[in-house]
Amino acid sequence: MRKIIFASNNKHKAEEIRAILGAQFDIITLKEAGIEIDIPEPHETLTENAREKSMVIHRLTGMDCFSEDSGLEVDALNGAPGVRSARYAGEQANANDNLQKLLAEMKEIANRAARFKTVISLILNGQEYTFEGDCEGTITHSASGTTGFGYDPVFMPTHHDQTFAELGIEVKSAISHRKKAMEKMTTFLGSLENN
Ligand code: IMP
Repeated sequence: MRKIIFASNNKHKAEEIRAILGAQFDIITLKEAGIEIDIPEPHETLTENAREKSMVIHRLTGMDCFSEDSGLEVDALNGAPGVRSARYAGEQANANDNLQKLLAEMKEIANRAARFKTVISLILNGQEYTFEGDCEGTITHSASGTTGFGYDPVFMPTHHDQTFAELGIEVKSAISHRKKAMEKMTTFLGSLENN
């Protein structure tokens, strides 16, 4: 089984990625690899931040690895919070602060269209490959649901009448931005194994 380091400290993302991949790959988190590092996200795009994370971990370990950077883009806010999704309400903000700020900004706004985006950067045998996925939906008027993380309680994916946090990890993992990007990466990895 192919061993790949997932260059992230976010345990929610690791849990989702394992739910998406099943037993196809042996995913090792930074913690499991004994790596304690706070990887910076200094750039203005998801792609550059994802690349930074995978490059840092590849340089450190020499192993195949992948990282992902994700964000929520809201049309009425010109794409915000976007690449700053984790820090929307400030550097020390937690997920609830960010989500409350978003609801406050959207209070008087009728156009609720938004999408989550994920960019994966995979380093395989020293070469980088990127994969993208998105998930369209709307921002609700209040938070509901208890599963998932981040903005899940206020994001209702298209064709559903509940938020990601109400739908649960199984449904989310079947339709999410992360799932779509991961699917592209696994198809790519699968095509290498078959050649
Ligand atoms: P990063 O990719 O670690 O920079 O995280 C970006 C931020 O986007 C997270 O802290 C969350 O606030 C938000 N985010 C990314 N993916 C999701 C998701 O699947 N659900 C809810 N929020 C998300």
